[in-house]
Amino acid sequence: MKNISDISLKGKKVLIRVDFNVPLDKHFNINDDSRIIAALPTIKKVIADGGKAIIMSHLGRPKNSYEEKFSLKHTTKHLSNLLETEVGFSVDCIGEKTLSDISKMKNGDVLVLENLRFYSQEKAGDKEFAKQLAKLGDVYVNDAFGTAHRAHASTSIIANYFPNNKYFGLLLCNEINSLETALKNPKRPFTAIIGGAKITGKIDVIVSLFDKVDNLIIGGGMAYTFAKAMGGNIGNSLVEDDKVALAKNLITAAKAKGVQLLLPSDSVNAKEFNNNAIIQHSKIITIPDGFMGLDIGSDSITHFSKVILNSKTIIWNGPMGVFEMDNFSNGTKQIGEAICKATTNGAFSLVGGGDSVAAVKQFGFTEKLSYLSTGGGAMLEYLEGKKLPGVTAIQN
Ligand code: AMP
Repeated sequence: MKNISDISLKGKKVLIRVDFNVPLDKHFNINDDSRIIAALPTIKKVIADGGKAIIMSHLGRPKNSYEEKFSLKHTTKHLSNLLETEVGFSVDCIGEKTLSDISKMKNGDVLVLENLRFYSQEKAGDKEFAKQLAKLGDVYVNDAFGTAHRAHASTSIIANYFPNNKYFGLLLCNEINSLETALKNPKRPFTAIIGGAKITGKIDVIVSLFDKVDNLIIGGGMAYTFAKAMGGNIGNSLVEDDKVALAKNLITAAKAKGVQLLLPSDSVNAKEFNNNAIIQHSKIITIPDGFMGLDIGSDSITHFSKVILNSKTIIWNGPMGVFEMDNFSNGTKQIGEAICKATTNGAFSLVGGGDSVAAVKQFGFTEKLSYLSTGGGAMLEYLEGKKLPGVTAIQN
């Protein structure tokens, strides 16, 4: 992959698209700086080369104009501490003021631009807006894996204006290399673990994984639609009635492809969606009326863990239950632990998706996995075999 480690950026104005979409508290303090940390190697490389690092990103979901709570100015102090160098801020991301701020930069300086999504043209993939952004730099670097599946002005369209000067950042490179390790000639057995609330949004990835994996483990809220498809009683559990037929088809399709589809056999149930609710265990197909399944049960944990421990390549996207509540976090925690153990024993493990990554951090597994992805949607689309606009824009 054409990445910035192959070139010297000395004296160059390097326009870097990062993903600084970090959660902020009500005082605008950063709650989780992982995305900023992930972009540091690329920024440091530009500084070390004696280039000028011009950082552009989105933050939150502004309604196409300035909103204080979504200003990227909230990230500069922390970035400055992490880099141990002063970081400047431009109150706009295009136009005269920004061009003037950039003209004052010295080699090795860092400047953060204001939120790209204060302009509706960013998400619209507007060519004129992309052209305005392109005027800011000599070199374009995409290091935002989290938005690589979007054809936005700053993630994809802008690359057209840098036909000979566009590169992958070090993070984006690592993300793609990790996915390729899993997808191209994976060491077998290859196991995918898919969880989360709903089947919707994960159907395509499940279907495409049938062609790649040996085992596919399903957990989380979506498991109850499968349980219903098998004729089970699932009480008040989360269910997508319009997906029951599809779940049935997926069970048949897995068989036809020779993939072992593992569904939870038991469930931890509660009367209410509440950590203090009355708890009850049952088979997943005999959940009593008035109860809802909020975590996988101990038999499922034992069965899934055995398969995971025997695997050599593992990908995980989506929690096994409502891990945010203590009483329903055990399934996600135990499955995470099994993945860590398998990794210690030599397996390659790749975890992605906002909630799975939050769970990994909550349980302290970060260092015990092979790779923690910064992209949820982008990871799923890559696994589906889709071309990511942010990636193809650099490759073409
Ligand atoms: P997703 O965004 O689809 O990956 O879903 C993640 C969310 O699914 C998390 O907030 C979990 O709390 C939730 N979840 C997992 N298992 C269940 C379940 N059995 N019932 C309801 N929600 C669940």
